[in-house]
Amino acid sequence: TKAQIGVTGLAVMGRNLARNFARNGYTVALHNRTASRTHQLVEEFGEEGIFVPAGTAEEFVAALERPRRLVIMVKAGEATDAVIQEFAPLLESGDMIIDGGNAHFADTRRREKELREKGIHFVGTGISGGEEGALHGPSIMPGGSVESYASLGPMLEKISAKAKDGAPCVTHVGPDGAGHFVKMVHNGIEYADMQLIGEAYQLLRDVAGYSPARIADIFRSWNEGRLDSYLIEITAEVLSHVDAATGEPFVDIVQDQAEQKGTGRWTVQIALDLGVPVSGIAEAVFARSLSGHADLRAASRHLAGPSALALPESEAAAFADRVEQALYASKIVSYTQGFHEIAAGSETYDWDIDSGAVARIWRGGCIIRAAFLDRITAAYEAEPGLVSLLSDKEFADEIAAAQDDWRAVLVAATIQGVPTPGFAAALAYYDALRAERLPAALTQGQRDFFGAHTYRRTDREGSFHTLWGGDRSEVEA
Ligand code: NDP
Repeated sequence: TKAQIGVTGLAVMGRNLARNFARNGYTVALHNRTASRTHQLVEEFGEEGIFVPAGTAEEFVAALERPRRLVIMVKAGEATDAVIQEFAPLLESGDMIIDGGNAHFADTRRREKELREKGIHFVGTGISGGEEGALHGPSIMPGGSVESYASLGPMLEKISAKAKDGAPCVTHVGPDGAGHFVKMVHNGIEYADMQLIGEAYQLLRDVAGYSPARIADIFRSWNEGRLDSYLIEITAEVLSHVDAATGEPFVDIVQDQAEQKGTGRWTVQIALDLGVPVSGIAEAVFARSLSGHADLRAASRHLAGPSALALPESEAAAFADRVEQALYASKIVSYTQGFHEIAAGSETYDWDIDSGAVARIWRGGCIIRAAFLDRITAAYEAEPGLVSLLSDKEFADEIAAAQDDWRAVLVAATIQGVPTPGFAAALAYYDALRAERLPAALTQGQRDFFGAHTYRRTDREGSFHTLWGGDRSEVEA
């Protein structure tokens, strides 16, 4: 019998994805550039299902039923192109190449177009959930053609995570690069979520004066409420972990320089191109890069801090409650920004992405999975054309209820000198959106003054210029 699906690239992700397909009853062809990985998989996990190991690209392709479904799980970038070049000549019209790596959506658009000309469906697919997700059920974000989804969808639905209501965490996101675009924004939101959690931790530590173990308990209690999410859950685990070698809290013995692989940066770069304000995500990316500048930080240690007094212990518990409000409100804002970017990408590239469906498939399997996503789905279901998540009445009401505490937390952070760029950017976004007038009017005046860039008036149509160097009369531009 032929394999229904094949996986090439059997490092952590590909290996677990192949096992997941096999455990779900599919016959899975296996291939890897270095053959030892293929053998190792069969040796260690061969009894989990039916695997067809292949030593060469030709054997691999020959092992697949037609139309072929070939999953690539290799290092994103040049390796993906190399693998496509190796396999494409061996494929026939109607076959499908599924790229499950973290590809840039622009690469996916290029590859899809090239392969489409050969009659091959290229399905750029975002996969989230890390190693464990790949094995037990990830959140899957496939792009590509409608026909390819008709063939692949049922298989992906089977291996995907299931939300609490049983719905599979996969949907056909849209044509060509739509899946990888949505995965990119998922990761950008993940950066923002992690940054906000980090700020909450730092405030509980420095302002409330709590120990990591105590803060772990607070996160555990938050995880029982509206912040219920994978990232809050693992935060409690990390904070309560004690380093075996020193007996110190684990979080105190890890170097405080955050690394990144690039998807957060892409989210911000693309947002700049699309003109979408994703200030919370941008601050999260910048916070990681700032943390990594060890020299700059060492050279800045002498800089003066505030002379404010620490919070009295009697006020710490109330402060912790306020931090929960600030975290939740800021989280609403970062999702608002991320979904705005998805809508803008969808509009620009004509993808027709269903934002509610995206929220639905992020409810399970992926890193940002959270009870909160149900609420976003509900908001888009109630109003499919929702301009902004903040326009949803329930979210607006929740932020309204949280805002006094949110502001108080930022006041405390400022007075105590605790950096909270994520909380602050989120609040500034909120305040800017609700402002009656923005200083952008002054900006327009300045632009017209130095560059005759013209401005529009509030009281009538048209473009105008003021003769700043002359008698300051106004002319129609
Ligand atoms: P890696 O990104 O570490 O890639 C290793 C795999 O790529 C190996 O199978 C390797 O083959 C293969 N490879 C590298 N270069 C080439 C090449 N030129 N030609 C052929 N094969 C090549 O593996 P991961 O499993 O971590 O990730 C796979 C993909 O999934 C990546 O795109 C990653 O971004 C994405 N991803 C990863 C997640 C994670 O949590 N790790 C989560 C979601 C997505 P060989 O054994 O011969 O070296």
